[in-house]
Amino acid sequence: MERGKLLVISGPSGVGKSTAIKGVQALHPDMYFSISATTRNRREGDVDGVTYWFKTTEEFENMIARGVFYEWARYGDNYYGTPMEPVDQRLQQGLDVIMDIDVQGALQIQKRCADAVLIFLVAPSFAVLEQRLRGRADTSEEDMQKRLIQARWEYSQAGQYDYLVISDTPERTVKEIDCILTAEKLRAHRRTYLLGLEESI
Ligand code: 5GP
Repeated sequence: MERGKLLVISGPSGVGKSTAIKGVQALHPDMYFSISATTRNRREGDVDGVTYWFKTTEEFENMIARGVFYEWARYGDNYYGTPMEPVDQRLQQGLDVIMDIDVQGALQIQKRCADAVLIFLVAPSFAVLEQRLRGRADTSEEDMQKRLIQARWEYSQAGQYDYLVISDTPERTVKEIDCILTAEKLRAHRRTYLLGLEESI
């Protein structure tokens, strides 16, 4: 059976990653969203085991020691990590996996999993990104400034990704990610079985 595709989505806070991922999942109901573990506080709308697995710092550090994570990183004052087993299991079953992780995590995945596809979402402009962040009720001015500095650093790393997608309208963003998925599945090295050469070699 063909292994599933691993799509790694990154981009600055406020760029629209969650909306894009929900849209892609709506097109592909079998696609598995990798639920990360984190030590950050729950926000409104967060559900344990759905948006994240919420852990104490001690629990998270135990998980690191047990080698549970595909990758983990500190982002702001918190830990975030991707549990390995659920992802590997889905990929082996031929199911596609999508994950929303930061740049440090994505680059770790790129090293460990050669066929992972890294997609970076950018806002149409930096001014638009700032506007979107300001539109969020939960963002203080101090927090805003931190997120903008973080976003500039993330942009500086985006050249290491496989694809850059502009997050303007959700429809277009979802369509472009879907095109990437289709193209990746058509890559010749994944489809040599179609050439029917096995018997003659
Ligand atoms: P938030 O706290 O806003 O949900 O997420 C903050 C950042 O952590 C986002 O950039 C998100 O992509 C990243 N993130 C979420 N889960 C993981 C993970 O498992 N690993 C890493 N490295 N980053 C993550």
